[in-house]
Amino acid sequence: LTAASGGGIVAYADSSRAEEAPEPPPRKKKVVVLGTGWAGTSFLKNLDSSRYEVKVISPRNYFAFTPLLPSVTCGTVEARSVVEPIRRMFEKKGKDVAYYEAECLKIDPTKKAVHCRSAVGTNLDGNGDFMLDYDYLVVALGAAVNTFNTPGVMEHCHFLKEVEDAQKIRKSVIDCFERASIPNISEEEKRKILHFVIIGGGPTGVEFAAELHDFLVEDLVKLYPAIEQFVKITIIQSGEHILNTFDQRIAVFAESKFQRDGIELSTGFRVIKVSDDSITVKCKSSGVETLVPYGMAIWSAGIGTRPVITDFMNQGKRRALATNEWLRVPECDSVYAIGDCSSISQRKIMEDISTIFKVADKDNSGTLTLKEINDVLEDICIRYPQVELYMKSMHMVDIADLIKGGLGDSHKESMVVNIEEFKKAMCHVDSQVKTVPATAQVAAQQGYYLADCFNKKDHCTEHPEGPLRLTGSGEGHHNFRPFRYKHLGQFAPLGGEQAAAELPGDWVSMGHSTQWLWYSVYASKQVSWRTRVLVVSDWTRRFIFGRDSSR
Ligand code: FAD
Ligand code: MG
Ligand code: MG
Ligand code: MG
Ligand code: MG
Repeated sequence: LTAASGGGIVAYADSSRAEEAPEPPPRKKKVVVLGTGWAGTSFLKNLDSSRYEVKVISPRNYFAFTPLLPSVTCGTVEARSVVEPIRRMFEKKGKDVAYYEAECLKIDPTKKAVHCRSAVGTNLDGNGDFMLDYDYLVVALGAAVNTFNTPGVMEHCHFLKEVEDAQKIRKSVIDCFERASIPNISEEEKRKILHFVIIGGGPTGVEFAAELHDFLVEDLVKLYPAIEQFVKITIIQSGEHILNTFDQRIAVFAESKFQRDGIELSTGFRVIKVSDDSITVKCKSSGVETLVPYGMAIWSAGIGTRPVITDFMNQGKRRALATNEWLRVPECDSVYAIGDCSSISQRKIMEDISTIFKVADKDNSGTLTLKEINDVLEDICIRYPQVELYMKSMHMVDIADLIKGGLGDSHKESMVVNIEEFKKAMCHVDSQVKTVPATAQVAAQQGYYLADCFNKKDHCTEHPEGPLRLTGSGEGHHNFRPFRYKHLGQFAPLGGEQAAAELPGDWVSMGHSTQWLWYSVYASKQVSWRTRVLVVSDWTRRFIFGRDSSR
């Protein structure tokens, strides 16, 4: 740590000066982006593509608005309304970007190249494999489904991850109704065929259950009145409550709404095996195993790592690819990872505590005064957000409370601490390190942030005044603030024109008006006017005519 930035621990680029960067470099640096989901497209939209030679690889030539996928499963919204072609996105923004419809098979960080295979089939030379080299690689491959190696899940369950999955589910639901309508089928068999089981009580499973319930009571029972009584929806959840990432009030509201709707909640059960006509569940408290006959099962119980990522990380048993707070993969030069495939390792303050003390102690007295601490406090809070979170969780008003709890105001000013006292004060702070969730919101913010870093990179390389490194782990060439996630709230649509929402500032809203808030937020979040018009007209059509129940 030097004093070059005027004593700050983190300095960052002045964006107004970044514009007047001098002569462009002779060769544009090559940026390869893997994936066109939330993270990848957000990066590409914000990237100044005139500064780089940009190539994009993805086996799907469209972006999918995943929050509306549960609505596609029951035809509330059409599949084509939730996708936006990638090439159209670039063309509209006038971006000079090359797109290849291909799958990345391997990342080779030593050669700085990726191995790819065409997704559209092989060419005349007999193969569609090719290699792309990069100066910077942005890995935005998303997550895979995770069956936790439960036998039978891959073979017998539906998943809800891709647009095709949603379309398959829709077809399969109708199939079940047609199958149960065939003459000479026993009641028991009908009950089995019309038992829809959702494994996993997270937001996706819950929203799907709500959609399916609406589809049944609003549309299908009118079309299949003879078999209405045999229909059943069950959610199997291993935890004690559904929606456990939401505020408790929302979980309670959702559970009681589902109870009224007749959706069965089997909480505290784990699925241990799935066969073609039954699911074996184990009660977590009693250990008793039961067979549950079913017609259709949807697995929505967790996300896992894609093989190409697993292959790439030889960094222990992480679920996702670890990056530093600037979203760069620490062990490899020039590889960045964003979205569901990655996870940020937040630096612990205790690892750097002695350095921080030395930096703060400007007069080398071996002790810190309140003023000395306050001078570096902002930088500390930027580098270690857990400090602020800890103080908030302990209802502390200022840093003096953290360093020397219980001091009266008059004594705070004259407070002095030595290194041991400083360490003792900070030793619980790291317990507040938070991981960011695997959501579209996070992925989009990371993509936006990283593009911003790329846009200002030249400027920062020429003026490398920050961030001053605490331990050598910071990004010397990146004088940027580390990525910080801003949570804007989350919705849980619960069916019957009701939704629950958790909004910033601990505000929870539930019921019919929240559903209207949901409609307006999701309409405004659409990536283009084209999809916005399609989605809104799908909603309108459903209000007027109901859903389409043909396969
Ligand atoms: P993705 O969006 O999954 O994108 C991954 C990209 O990589 C895709 O383009 C894929 O085609 C591509 N790819 C895959 N393999 C390869 C390969 N080998 N080579 C090249 N490219 C490859 N989040 C919210 O915040 N709010 C919600 O309401 C919400 N609802 C959801 C509902 C459903 C049904 C689902 C499945 C998810 C939902 N999410 C929601 C989560 C959100 O969709 C993810 O967090 C988000 O998509 C993560 O973005 P990503 O870019 O990391 O991955
Ligand atoms: Mg992506
Ligand atoms: Mg996506
Ligand atoms: Mg992530
Ligand atoms: Mg001092």
